[in-house]
Amino acid sequence: MKASMKVHIPKSLIFEILEKSKRTHLEICGILVGTEDDLNFMVKEVHFTENTLSSSIRFQIDAKEFIRIYEDSVERGLDVVGFFHSHPSSPYPSSVDEMYMSLWPNKVWLIVSSTELSYKAFIVADNRITEIEIVEN
Ligand SMILES: [Zn+2]
Repeated sequence: MKASMKVHIPKSLIFEILEKSKRTHLEICGILVGTEDDLNFMVKEVHFTENTLSSSIRFQIDAKEFIRIYEDSVERGLDVVGFFHSHPSSPYPSSVDEMYMSLWPNKVWLIVSSTELSYKAFIVADNRITEIEIVEN
């Protein structure tokens, strides 16, 4: 269990995601870039990517954009530490989210609610979805 894991993210970046999520009826999505150690994910950048499904209830990150951001991050000594997307409802993983989360264990899934303007973070560790603490800095 890694329930004591935390994700550290600048307030300004959370604000940017929430603001963008409010301005569209589509789910927004993107990639969290930073560093990680055993217990902490340190988010340093958010990269907005196109929702290739153009959907208000689903999202998909463009694979080419993902590879470009991943390679660019690694070149700069950073890593893809997770993903974010918005929901027009509560910020809890949907059953579709759960399926994709299980394919990307040990990555942060930040979900923001474009209607409640709330947000939560989850990881899959040992095949279980666990909410982790968000530390805003
Ligand atoms: Zn979702």
